[in-house]
Amino acid sequence: MMDALVVGLGLAGVSVTHALRSAGHRFTVVDVPLPHSGSPVAAGLMLPISGPRWVLRPHYAELLEAATGLYGPLMTPFRVNRLLGEEHEPYLHKRQQDPAYADYLSEQQPPQDDATIDPHGRVQWTAHCLDVPTLLSQARQQLTDEERLVEASFSLDDVTYHPTHIDYRGTPYKWLILCTGHRAIQQPPFEWLRYQPSHGEWCELHPIDRVEPGIIDRRYWMHQEPTRTRFGSTYDYKELDAGTTAAGALALIEAAKTLVDCDVRIKTQYAGIRAATIDWSPYVGTSPTQPRAALLAGLGSTGALLAPYCGHALVRLLMDDDPLPSWINLARRERDRVPPA
Ligand SMILES: Cc1cc2nc3c(=O)[nH]c(=O)nc-3n(C[C@H](O)[C@H](O)[C@H](O)COP(=O)(O)OP(=O)(O)OC[C@H]3O[C@@H](n4cnc5c(N)ncnc54)[C@H](O)[C@@H]3O)c2cc1C
Repeated sequence: MMDALVVGLGLAGVSVTHALRSAGHRFTVVDVPLPHSGSPVAAGLMLPISGPRWVLRPHYAELLEAATGLYGPLMTPFRVNRLLGEEHEPYLHKRQQDPAYADYLSEQQPPQDDATIDPHGRVQWTAHCLDVPTLLSQARQQLTDEERLVEASFSLDDVTYHPTHIDYRGTPYKWLILCTGHRAIQQPPFEWLRYQPSHGEWCELHPIDRVEPGIIDRRYWMHQEPTRTRFGSTYDYKELDAGTTAAGALALIEAAKTLVDCDVRIKTQYAGIRAATIDWSPYVGTSPTQPRAALLAGLGSTGALLAPYCGHALVRLLMDDDPLPSWINLARRERDRVPPA
């Protein structure tokens, strides 16, 4: 019997297949590229501190270690210049007193002759960027070479559940692992899990000079790389199937003009759906109704950082019965499945 049938080859599927392969398990992947999937358009940023309150991402060191193990040289360090606004000062002061932030925060003076609009100064920290397109194409190629990839649309109608395995088109597998991104929403046997999906857009700009390498970040980020300038991203919780839009382009240009004092024009625009969960932590684990079905979904806007850690944790649960860390275990949402009487 095969060990696992993995559905989906975005960041979640790549992470799960990496963990399965590393542990010597036998598996097959079913995937077909579908519109608005998250990974092909992910900007690949992995940030230790985020949001208007400057929150240090919980479990950051463990997440980064797992990410480094999977991505290797596809992950590049860069500097984040967080531009201060008056409204940020209380958080900056609070974080500077907190020893957990000591490794991350250092105040900097803006460089001379820089196009950045920076009236209140800046704070710096180090982050990483993943080359997601290369990761996805290398993973796809490796699975093709290994004859493990079936490029086809998957349907649960082709699955029958048994106590010890599932059957998919005549082949038995110990586990069905769904890594279907935002298409996991309302997908049995996990349809009871609640999400807050958003449509997002970012763009590559015609190159801007007079901005130093790395990211300048306030509500939006501008990523200055040696060969390109990237800018993002928008959040729309209503129009979930929109692709790239004129409204998105306008919003991006207007936002870019609040960060830099120079001409801003879009070269290429990207759009996709992020599937954040109701409590912003991923959903990992098995189904309470179909115990041979497992899920890794709800990676939100931080899939690059979360996926490797979650993929390993899920494979250890399924194959070695190692308990999941509670903060990613989808069982924490049991109350959404069975509301109190
Ligand atoms: C605009 C934008 C910018 C982003 N920037 C970042 C960023 O900078 N950093 C970061 O960490 N994250 C970022 N994200 C979030 C990131 O994209 C997601 O967290 C991540 O891609 C989710 O990965 P996934 O594997 O769960 O889902 P997906 O990438 O959506 O993968 C699901 C896969 O399953 C396949 N699939 C689904 N259903 C079926 C089926 N029935 N049959 C066959 N195949 C199927 C899909 O085609 C797809 O290949 C961004 C997202 C957006 C939209």
